[in-house]
Amino acid sequence: MFVYADNAATTSVSKAALDAMMPYLTENYGNPSSLYAFGQKASEALQEARETVARCINCEPREIIFTSGGSEADNQAIVSAAKLGARKGKKHLISTQFEHHAVLHTLSKLEKEGFEVTLLDPHSDGVIRVEDVAAAIRPDTALVTIMFANNEIGTVQPIAEIGALCREKGIPFHTDAVQAAGHMPIDVKAMNIDMLSMSGHKFHAPKGVGVLYARRGIVLTNIIEGGAQERGKRAGTENVAGIVALAAALKESCDHMEENTARIIPMRDKLFAELSKIPHSKINGSLEHHVPGTVNMCFEGIEGESLLLLLDDAGICASSGSACTSGSLDPSHVLLSIGLPHEVAHGSLRLSIGEYNTMEQIDHIVETVPKVVAYLRSMSPVWDELQKGERPHLI
Ligand SMILES: *Cc1c(COP(=O)(O)O)cnc(C)c1O
Repeated sequence: MFVYADNAATTSVSKAALDAMMPYLTENYGNPSSLYAFGQKASEALQEARETVARCINCEPREIIFTSGGSEADNQAIVSAAKLGARKGKKHLISTQFEHHAVLHTLSKLEKEGFEVTLLDPHSDGVIRVEDVAAAIRPDTALVTIMFANNEIGTVQPIAEIGALCREKGIPFHTDAVQAAGHMPIDVKAMNIDMLSMSGHKFHAPKGVGVLYARRGIVLTNIIEGGAQERGKRAGTENVAGIVALAAALKESCDHMEENTARIIPMRDKLFAELSKIPHSKINGSLEHHVPGTVNMCFEGIEGESLLLLLDDAGICASSGSACTSGSLDPSHVLLSIGLPHEVAHGSLRLSIGEYNTMEQIDHIVETVPKVVAYLRSMSPVWDELQKGERPHLI
């Protein structure tokens, strides 16, 4: 059985998205900047997509900029707010320890350019407290950027409360909503969000297309120079087909959010319930403040990478928090930020499911994971020491 349980990494393109984009890859291939009617067809499709996306998050179409993805949107939002602040002598930026690297690395770049960055610690439940944000705010704070939902542990942050606080203090507030868009209701007006990032491939649109929402009045800095596309804020011929697909996928996800959630929750709960029966396991992140489909757990005495390889052999695509892709063996910065010891963080597993998964697939996972964990423990010197009492159990 093949089970794709890594929807937080990417998703398949939905039929609605594919059907919507196809004409713009085939007969309607015009450049939206061309003046003739054939180009205007593409331009109209862009406008329609902008309106659709705007409706999904309750903003104006002109507040939507299409980008190459979530990373670009994060970069542009943060750099824009930093530049804007610097002009007023404000060079302090607030974020969190467990952001995506698109945010963290942009902040470190700005730090080298003379900005001061405060990274808040989430509590052990994986949730940032509004009081901690309030305490970090200074007269020279130029930006607060806090993710909507964490990509590794799925915890949801008190975005509306943070938005209200920032609005009251007159500080621009950006949220990386890549893991939330299409999966949870978002209302940028009600939540007082000034800037928001989304990525199509996390909600069944193709890879390489994203959205930056910037409230009217927020002055954006170009990070790509060139033509005057996207009201001069993002140069480059628009990815018309990708944008049309993104809008179709987002609309479909938002229209079916309740039923998708109702379908996903029982599968997620079964994963939590069954995998928690594994001795010396731990669920990471508050279950109260959580996106529907993300499950993150640690199993003591094993390495996440070995677990992933054996799950792959069993047809299961999952992920571990460890930054193995970057060639480093450091455990996940997210798991360390919620206070897990290195040894525990190394044995992590992220399963992220979506509405396309089935209960039969969940059954395959809950049958396989305990066997694989037991097998890895049977060969683990660390587990042996834990069993003999030569090393204390941490979970
Ligand atoms: C995937 C992801 C990104 C990056 O989006 P891309 O479109 O892949 O550039 C940024 N932030 C979070 C939270 C993500 O999960």
